[in-house]
Amino acid sequence: MVRPTLEVADIFRDHGAAWRQANAGHVSLDQLKVMSAIERCRTAALGGHVARCQVCAYTTIAYNSCRNRHCPKCQGAAAKQWLAEREAELLPVPYFHVLFTLPGKIAVIAFQNKAVVYDLLFKAAAETVLTIAADPKHLGARIGITAVLHTWGSTMTHHPYVHMIVPGGGLSEDGSRWIASRPRFLVHVNVLSRLFRGRFLAMLAKAHADGRSRFFGEHAALADRRAFKRFLAPLRRSEWVVYTKDPFAGPQQVLRYLSRYTHRVAISNRRLVSADDNGVAFRWKDYRIDGPGRWKTMTLAPHEFIRRFLMHVLPKGFHRIRHYGLFANGNRAANIARARDLLGVAARTVEHEDHKAAAPDEPRVLPCPCPRCGGRMIVIEVFARGCQPRHRPTSIRIDTS
Ligand SMILES: [Zn+2]
Ligand SMILES: [Zn+2]
Repeated sequence: MVRPTLEVADIFRDHGAAWRQANAGHVSLDQLKVMSAIERCRTAALGGHVARCQVCAYTTIAYNSCRNRHCPKCQGAAAKQWLAEREAELLPVPYFHVLFTLPGKIAVIAFQNKAVVYDLLFKAAAETVLTIAADPKHLGARIGITAVLHTWGSTMTHHPYVHMIVPGGGLSEDGSRWIASRPRFLVHVNVLSRLFRGRFLAMLAKAHADGRSRFFGEHAALADRRAFKRFLAPLRRSEWVVYTKDPFAGPQQVLRYLSRYTHRVAISNRRLVSADDNGVAFRWKDYRIDGPGRWKTMTLAPHEFIRRFLMHVLPKGFHRIRHYGLFANGNRAANIARARDLLGVAARTVEHEDHKAAAPDEPRVLPCPCPRCGGRMIVIEVFARGCQPRHRPTSIRIDTS
């Protein structure tokens, strides 16, 4: 069967129930909630509204979206407002891009302790960069950081890393001057890597000592303090991977990057190729190969596809985009205004979308006009969760002439 556009939701609708049954007792409540949100997103299960054009009576039905942050279909709207806010904060300086990854052995620990270990990954990475920047040998300034956690590799395996966007410069200690970075600031990857390794391992050992980590299955023995110490020992000597990518060419490139990477889930619907009872095929990028040959297709059994997708569900309330240093919440607005002032750029305000509710007796008008004639689309019916609308949509006539 050829589907118009294959979506992750189709795979969950076709195989989710069987997967839940097969994995009963091993699925977290967070994962179950994500499954149900994706399965019900933009279906009658979530209710919706019917709108009709005032001029030509063209009628459309829109189902409510789930707004779950793990839903591949609900990312666009969330990204829009967030990006508008970031755009107003951009500084006219080069931006650096740094990636901090965890070694495979730690990733396994992270999987059993998502909230604790991902949190330490953020903290250790941010402290590393703030420390290097504050050091007069490197920059001697207070800088700002925007960091995003991704937990997946291209085939949805568990591979946690933090992307960091760092403006090339910062405020002097007393806030009176802008200190611009040299072009090669933060290129000392080895310095970053060792500092990061030391901070992270110290924080992880502390979390273990404080009883904040849990170990199951083949890692149950690591609950013992000495066993954990032995487990960490080789990691104190191995090289931890920190990359710095080429700095962004300008603020617009930073925004494009953020729009692509900040509001993402383990796989986008666009990468799906086909799905049936035997397998789900999707495109993935083989980073060991350069050029167009790096795009390959992988097929996974539907249950394995679901398992991999759900590995990346974050604990409830866990923030996967965080700001540090000058950008930390609290003094963020004042610090950015100060930086923009010192750099000679005018302050900008973000235009928030107007969500003014219509008065009860006023008809609700959709923001998009009629696709057929451009007339106003008026909401003529709102239907509740689990109900079907009374009105029918205008059938789409395909012009074959
Ligand atoms: Zn959704
Ligand atoms: Zn119309």
